[in-house]
Amino acid sequence: MILKGQLHTHTTFSDGALTPQEAADAYARLGYDFIAITDHDHLLKPSYGDAISRVDSRMLIFTGIELTVHCRKGYVHVSRIEGEKEVLHVFNHPADVDVSLKDCIRIIAEVAEQYPIDAVEITTHGFYTPQFDIPGIPYPKVAADDSHNLLGCGRGWIELEAPLDRDEIIRAVKQGRFMNCFAGDKARRKSAGDLRLIQFA
Ligand SMILES: [Zn+2]
Repeated sequence: MILKGQLHTHTTFSDGALTPQEAADAYARLGYDFIAITDHDHLLKPSYGDAISRVDSRMLIFTGIELTVHCRKGYVHVSRIEGEKEVLHVFNHPADVDVSLKDCIRIIAEVAEQYPIDAVEITTHGFYTPQFDIPGIPYPKVAADDSHNLLGCGRGWIELEAPLDRDEIIRAVKQGRFMNCFAGDKARRKSAGDLRLIQFA
């Protein structure tokens, strides 16, 4: 089946405005099949894992965490997303590293020595950053929202063909078997816009 998914979402368990349940409900209304909740490690509130496991949703909810990883230029963010056996590590929003492309590629390589990087985001808060969608960054490139509130939900996502199974989804991402999608795409603008209107009604 074709699955629509979000790999980067924040909640009230770090600096997000929506509870895990509210975030899940927002994405379910937008037609998603899975989301990963990836709150910041340095802001994480207690009972995070319990709160995620209590979310009631038709979607598959991944437990994740956004790690603060130190590197020569300060720090960068890497999401760690838990499957059953598989684990996915995504280097997040490279545009935020705010260095030249060449230095950014070096930093990704440096971080990959500490964490087994599986994919690199090509979005910042859901907006496409094409300068990182290049063969010089030798990883699958993923679109994600990094949503911190309702307005941030539904800008960038992935679609893939897999059973609704955590490890199958993670393997598909690792192997680059997915499509990046954006709410701004012509064909999708109308349905995304309609859904937003419903959300705010
Ligand atoms: Zn984030």
